Amino acid sequence: MRILIVEDDDRVSQALDAYLTKAGYSSVRAADGVQALEALNSDTELVLLDLGLPDIDGIDLCRRIRARSGVPIIMATARSHVQDRINGLRAGADDFVVKPYDVRELLARIEAITRRSHQQPPDAARLHLQEHGVEIEFGTRQVLVDGESVDLTRTEFDIVAVLARYPAVVVPRERIIREVWNTEWRSYARSLEVHVASIRRKIGKGALIETVRGVGYRLTGGLSDAHETHRGHPHPAHRRAPGARRRVRRERGA
Ligand code: CA
Repeated sequence: MRILIVEDDDRVSQALDAYLTKAGYSSVRAADGVQALEALNSDTELVLLDLGLPDIDGIDLCRRIRARSGVPIIMATARSHVQDRINGLRAGADDFVVKPYDVRELLARIEAITRRSHQQPPDAARLHLQEHGVEIEFGTRQVLVDGESVDLTRTEFDIVAVLARYPAVVVPRERIIREVWNTEWRSYARSLEVHVASIRRKIGKGALIETVRGVGYRLTGGLSDAHETHRGHPHPAHRRAPGARRRVRRERGA
């Protein structure tokens, strides 16, 4: 898998290059937006995009990459720049990491996005989140928790279905609202919160839907494999509680 690293800090870029190579990826480095656009081609399989670049605005660059390619984009943003994340996701980025990030988190996100694009076709009949004992059946519009059907309303199921289409990837509130209610987000933001609270109460798995403050929600349960693969403990017995460490980090940085 060929990853384009867009990063103006040479030290960071070199370190990332080394980590990714060690993890079995091949990478290409670009130190600014112009180099990034030059390096982007049909072999590029993922873009890691630092939003703070010396020449082109990172959000603008994200939009320009997206205009040319459907390649997955993970942005790296500063801790305090919540608006950047929102704008970046609107501009077509798939996910983000907050600087300074743990490289294992980055590798987990890369694997989650890769899995999403290769192993979770949009027409998949069901999604099984093993860590939570939760199964989502799209055809029958049912959610099973430990084998038992949970009684969700139509809207609640629609929300779960949107999240389930992007497992382990943060879905902006705006996108959920657009897909569920077919409207603009501000008027429905509070309604979405209430529905998510109700879904959590009914499903009873607190860690299943993670709130990413200022951005949206993420369905967890798909990331631990990636963590363990990197750390060399592929056996299921070594799996950590899904999402636990990441959630703590995120709240501290919010
Ligand atoms: Ca930078």
